[in-house]
Order: sequence, then structure tokens, then C-alpha cells
Amino acid sequence: MATVSLSSVPKRLRMVEDFRCTSCQELNLEESADIYCEACHMFYCKRCGHLHNRLSTEHTTVGRGDIKKWPVPKEVEDFLRMCEAHEDKILTQFCQDHTQLCCSDCVVKIHSQCSKVTQISELTNSQPTGLEGLSVELETVLGEIKTLQISQKASIQSFQRTYKEHSAVMIEQMLGNLNTYID
Ligand SMILES: [Zn+2]
Ligand SMILES: [Zn+2]
Ligand SMILES: [Zn+2]
Ligand SMILES: [Zn+2]
Repeated sequence: MATVSLSSVPKRLRMVEDFRCTSCQELNLEESADIYCEACHMFYCKRCGHLHNRLSTEHTTVGRGDIKKWPVPKEVEDFLRMCEAHEDKILTQFCQDHTQLCCSDCVVKIHSQCSKVTQISELTNSQPTGLEGLSVELETVLGEIKTLQISQKASIQSFQRTYKEHSAVMIEQMLGNLNTYID
């Protein structure tokens, strides 16, 4: 049975939410961003956000509640697409046997015997853009994994059920045979 390795995906998703305040970054401070300003194309922490909002009252800002509207920094997007095992390789495929995202190297080295290796683009049927597309892509993959786990569970359960039903029938038959034999 496939061993489910989800460990890399949640860590990658956490990276996406790890936005830093742009103006603090310029001062070498690491403040997590609270809002994104669509006019400045900058991230601001709570403190800088207050200042910004007072100075630029007509700018539209997007809070964390609407994080899907925040743009993905290039380096985060690149990081998300990279294979953890093969540093300069982009994740392009998904192995359903291992329930793992893989790059072309992984496919050759680890998944050459696997029966179900699908292109990620085939799973999503679209070229993802920005954070929304990217998280949709990952959600699709996570969804795939969940369905896979559920179907595995379901097949075990149905196997157990048939096995029970089967053995009940067999016992009945045996009892029947036994009864006829005794008769
Ligand atoms: Zn700041
Ligand atoms: Zn602004
Ligand atoms: Zn790889
Ligand atoms: Zn595989």
C-alpha cells in the first residue's frame, strides 16, 4: 500500500502565509505583514500599516482575511514549485502510488515503476497564476490525496465487509453441509 507523505505540502503552504513587512525589511527588521497595499504594491506590518493609512488615506489595502488577493512574491512561488530533493528542479508531476509531488528527476529515480504518475497541469487543467492558482493547484493535489486515502479506506472497509459476508455464507454453507451430513 502507498505510504502517504504529506509533510512537504503543509510546510510549503505555511511559507505562502509568511509575508514580511516591506518597509521594515528595508530596515533589516522582520515584521510579519498585516496588510497589502494595492496602490504601493507593498506589504505593511500593523505599525507601518497605521502610518501608511494615515499618510495615504485613498489607498486600498487588503488585510489577512483576504490573503488570497495578496500577490505571491516571486521567490515564494519559485520555492513552492521546487523539488525538495532536487534543488534546481521544478515539481511537475504527481505520483498517485506514493501520493507525492515529484520533479522529472524523482520520476526517473524513484517513480519509474509507479503506475500512476500524472502531470500536475492535467490534474488542475489550467495554468495557475498567482497565489490563488497556486493554492488551487496544491488544494487539488491535497484533495487528490484525501480522495485517495478515503478510497483506500473504503476499499479496506468494503474488503472487510465482503470478507465477513463471504465467511458468513461459507459458515452457513458449511453448517448446511454438516446438517445434510448428519441427516
Ligand atoms: Zn513594518
Ligand atoms: Zn499604499
Ligand atoms: Zn525531485
Ligand atoms: Zn511513485
